[in-house]
Amino acid sequence: MIARGKLADPRVQEAIDSSTERLRSHRIDAWNELDDVEGRRARAYEIRMRAVRDIDGNLNRFRSALEARGGHVSVCASAEEANAYVVDVCKRHGAKLLAKSKSMATEEIGLNDALEAAGITSVETDLGEYILQLEGEHPVHIVAPAIEKTKEDVARLFTDVEGVDVPPVLEELTASARRQLRQVFLDADVGVTGANFVVAETGTVVTVTNEGNGRLCASLPRVHIVVTGIERLVERMEDLPHLLSLLGRSATGQRLTSYTHLVTGPRREGEQDGPEELHVIFLENGRRNLIDTKYEEMLACIRCGSCLNVCPVYRKTAGAAYGPVYSGPMGAVLAPLLVGLEQAPSLPHASSLCGACTQACPVKIPLHELLLELRSDLVEERTAPFLERLGFSLWSVAWSTPIGYRISTRLARLGQRWGSRLGPGRVWAGGRDLPALARKRFRDVR
Ligand code: SF4
Repeated sequence: MIARGKLADPRVQEAIDSSTERLRSHRIDAWNELDDVEGRRARAYEIRMRAVRDIDGNLNRFRSALEARGGHVSVCASAEEANAYVVDVCKRHGAKLLAKSKSMATEEIGLNDALEAAGITSVETDLGEYILQLEGEHPVHIVAPAIEKTKEDVARLFTDVEGVDVPPVLEELTASARRQLRQVFLDADVGVTGANFVVAETGTVVTVTNEGNGRLCASLPRVHIVVTGIERLVERMEDLPHLLSLLGRSATGQRLTSYTHLVTGPRREGEQDGPEELHVIFLENGRRNLIDTKYEEMLACIRCGSCLNVCPVYRKTAGAAYGPVYSGPMGAVLAPLLVGLEQAPSLPHASSLCGACTQACPVKIPLHELLLELRSDLVEERTAPFLERLGFSLWSVAWSTPIGYRISTRLARLGQRWGSRLGPGRVWAGGRDLPALARKRFRDVR
């Protein structure tokens, strides 16, 4: 339903098409500067999978290193546990205002709702996230959360907030956002950020942003809380530069993202900046189910978003059609694995299986193969609707013998006419353009 609405909205189609095309072409230009592209992708895969295959060892090393520097580490099994931890820290500090930078993990657990229920105001400070918070919407892209919004949309929202006319001019919009958000950084009692990587060896949290808001959230408030997935660990500091260079190039086409912020513990004696208290929350929330399975490689994802920008399905349907958090090919694989295939049975089908996502992935995750595996699991677990299973079973029987194939191709023209008008066939064909079958079958041409 959401996808149909987005497909029919020319404004959304124009915004998402131009934005994803821009990100895609910048990525290609940035990668064209590199030699041995396949070697670099293989190295990134090796670094990520080495970390994924020893998550518990890396967690223990990180905990020892950070606690030795005065930080607190917690591993939370569920969204509820993680939210309760954050709310508890806020209450202990009497926090009323929280400044938040972009974090898909906090979107995943619905942190803002939990804070609001506890009477704590949480303000998104990433520009895209702030726009969505004003609009009451969720991110539709993991790197560019408000990718569907035009400058006119943003001008309307900012005009409402400021009560004066804000023109749809980029510099004016940026200045307006600055006026609205600057005081939030100064007044916030607690800052919450995500993490792009977490280095086990040194107990370091790494965040990259292009706006600098992440650094302000991490260093101005008295308390800094990091919420991140357990899979974001890397083993050694020497692994980091390689991943950072591929992340910037793949996400936005930059050689390096504008701000790379490394935090190793709270403020120490004699230091001028930094929080008095630092908490790092590692979120499991279904991730452990992937370890040692055929889906383990999905944990190597570095959330660069390039699979979204090349996906023909994402570029048409936009992100909201996938659900409230992860979208595009990475979301179509990850979301069903986190919440259970029965909760998201249509997502593995949100792909043409063209393989563009796999080719674009800087860490070589075989996304289209994982989507096929999920489709196969859907059949094996009998999660697909009865009529769909019946249809595919009959098709399989028909095409298992030459005679069955011949008869079915004869009946296909009839099926096309009536099958797309009746029952489930009508629903299926309602969202698709089917090419007309040839008047004569190829085998009948002489
Ligand atoms: S699956 Fe690969 S391409 Fe997609 S977001 Fe993750 S790292 Fe990037």
